[in-house]
Amino acid sequence: MSLDREQPGTVESIYRLEAGFALAADRSIYTPGRFQGEPITLPCNAYLIRRAGEWTLWDTGMPDELALEPEGRIIAHGLRGILPRTLRSQLQEIGVVPDDIGTVILSHGHFDHVGNAALFRHATWVLQSAEFDAMVGPDAARHGYRPELYEGLRDARLLLLDGDRDLFSDGSVSVIATPGHTPGHASLLVRTQGGRAIVLSGDVAHSSFNLEHRYVPTMNADAEASRRSMERIVDLVREEDAELWINHDPGHATAVPAGRAIFGW
Ligand SMILES: [Zn+2]
Repeated sequence: MSLDREQPGTVESIYRLEAGFALAADRSIYTPGRFQGEPITLPCNAYLIRRAGEWTLWDTGMPDELALEPEGRIIAHGLRGILPRTLRSQLQEIGVVPDDIGTVILSHGHFDHVGNAALFRHATWVLQSAEFDAMVGPDAARHGYRPELYEGLRDARLLLLDGDRDLFSDGSVSVIATPGHTPGHASLLVRTQGGRAIVLSGDVAHSSFNLEHRYVPTMNADAEASRRSMERIVDLVREEDAELWINHDPGHATAVPAGRAIFGW
């Protein structure tokens, strides 16, 4: 199937980009009451989407500067971020420079998702207004945000949403409001050529195990909303017969090869 012949209502391709690893000394922050004192390493990802010949990024990963520190650094929530490969270098391998990215859709404002905001100041940023308000509000630190990572965002073109949005009005890319992990967390439903649907669920849950057991991490902004959002994602995956890609799930991350176009199932 040719990349040039796009079908209406679908994206042409999706690339998984590696966005480093988050190391937690105590896994039970994600599973209160379970796995206490056990360390865990979470893979982090961002996704590059090509639609109608244009590039859209879903999340931006950890800040590229972190790659200069082999041991990484503790950044927020006691999590150590380690970045073996920069986002910029992975884009380059695909033949994309940051200026080519027209739209950035943000799941939420944590450091492993918004870390490279500075590379994409020219883009249109799509996020929930509740998320943006929290990211720039007085409780930013309490929510685990690092505002210095996205200082330039106030001057960027912002498309602030209050709920779901069929972004290009053709069903190809839909933002799904899934608050709870943070005040305005969002997920993404993407339709690909060949009639497949993919749900990119951000941090609604940090693994399929955690989703299955409906664990609400200790850091989450709203426990009740977190549970509702988990139900919503489970329902959506069933209704759409979709593949679920959980951002930090080790199995999901490696099931999709990094840096290669995935299309035309
Ligand atoms: Zn998060």
